[in-house]
Amino acid sequence: MDGGEAMRVGPYLIGRTIGEGSFAKVKAARRADTGGAGFALKIILRSRVGSDLKIHDQIKREIGTLKMLRHPNVVRLYEVLASKTKIFLVLEHVTGGELFDKIESKGRISEREGRKLFQQLIDAVSYCHDKGVYHRDLKPENVLLDAKGNIKISDFGLSALPQQIGVDGLLHTTCGSPNYVAPEVLANRGYDGAKSDLWSCGVILYVILTGCLPFDDQNLTLLYHKISKSEVHIPKWLSPGAQNLIKRMLDPNPITRINMDQLKEDNWFKQDYVPVMPEGDEEEDMLSDDESCVIKEVAEADHGHENTHNHINAFELIGMCSSLDLSGFFEQEDVSERRIRFTSTLSPKDLFDRIEEIVTEMGFHVRKGHAKLKVIQPCKGSTCPRSLLMVVEVFEINSSLYVVELRKSHGVSASYRQICAKILDDLGVCKSADVATTNQSLMQEHSTAALEGERKFTIAAA
Ligand code: ADP
Ligand code: MG
Repeated sequence: MDGGEAMRVGPYLIGRTIGEGSFAKVKAARRADTGGAGFALKIILRSRVGSDLKIHDQIKREIGTLKMLRHPNVVRLYEVLASKTKIFLVLEHVTGGELFDKIESKGRISEREGRKLFQQLIDAVSYCHDKGVYHRDLKPENVLLDAKGNIKISDFGLSALPQQIGVDGLLHTTCGSPNYVAPEVLANRGYDGAKSDLWSCGVILYVILTGCLPFDDQNLTLLYHKISKSEVHIPKWLSPGAQNLIKRMLDPNPITRINMDQLKEDNWFKQDYVPVMPEGDEEEDMLSDDESCVIKEVAEADHGHENTHNHINAFELIGMCSSLDLSGFFEQEDVSERRIRFTSTLSPKDLFDRIEEIVTEMGFHVRKGHAKLKVIQPCKGSTCPRSLLMVVEVFEINSSLYVVELRKSHGVSASYRQICAKILDDLGVCKSADVATTNQSLMQEHSTAALEGERKFTIAAA
């Protein structure tokens, strides 16, 4: 992004990065024509998903189906755009963070509250199954929460997409965590999408109620073994109803595993169950497409040249201001806290060098990109997937002042917080009580676009 004009894709203006996965980057977006906000653009490099650039009729049909999914607990897919090198999925922007972050910070969730979330999860999954769409990649990163704390499942049916574009579906699965994958999927036998989704829902239920993974091992071979035998410890302090349901969902045999109808008749599940009504189609259909334009071709977006660092202008800075407040990070556990920003007078090169030094010393790996540094969780075994923990990005305000952003990707929140604390500490970023007031004065400064001046939590150039 080069100062001034925001990047544009079709009718959408692209904003800040809100997430990063193994295959895609997700950015906030709004419509240039109507000003409508609340979109998230998932950007997939075509080269990352296979060399075959053709989008087959089969894929078009699938996307057509996905766009018809309308359920309050399913992230809406509005449309799909494609340029020569990228595919853009226009999604509903979900703002409550990942369910996993909430569980990590709370330890576990009570049976009553957990059941409500689980019922929403099952409602969504069952709705999609009824439309013939299976998720195949239900994992914590794909279970998001909206602003009210309700479940929103993302990537429904999309795991089939990279597969058909040319990448081995299993590769996609093992890029993330295999902890949620059903034994028959791991065994790479033909499988029933409905039953394997139910297995993953069982794992998610276990995580919600206990705060731990049912199957876990540093060693991937042992992990596969535990999953295939369903070697699971179900805590006795769970209610008998919850224990029983988890057992029936984590049955390694897909044939005897509980099915959707049986699940909905389960006594533990049925308590306080109010099925949600899928959203009607009365909502104006901005797509109303015949099959031929299910995927709209857009011109290659103008990215400008990516500098060694990003420029930001005053307006973008104002937009960033709410998150400049560090007080929440230090004083309370905010479940959706996945981003920290601070200003610095150090040059981007110095910043990246110092941060690289710090995280390497802590035992993490780094990968450098354009104006960006990725922190990777190292792994024991050679086959173990390496997970992206955090992305560091530096934006230029002027030639002597920069905003550093530390963004959580996947992985453990605790490690993320540890790294952030260490970076802030080593770089001498002030974290005292006057941070809040400093932020307030920063806000005022920024809103008058007066970008010079003293900043209390600015790092002194060392
Ligand atoms: P993954 O393979 O982990 O599902 P994605 O590319 O789908 O990766 O998304 C990366 C991250 O972006 C997710 O983990 C999530 O935190 C965030 N994200 C994805 N979709 C949305 C959305 N519609 N609204 C808000 N955040 C999203
Ligand atoms: Mg996802």
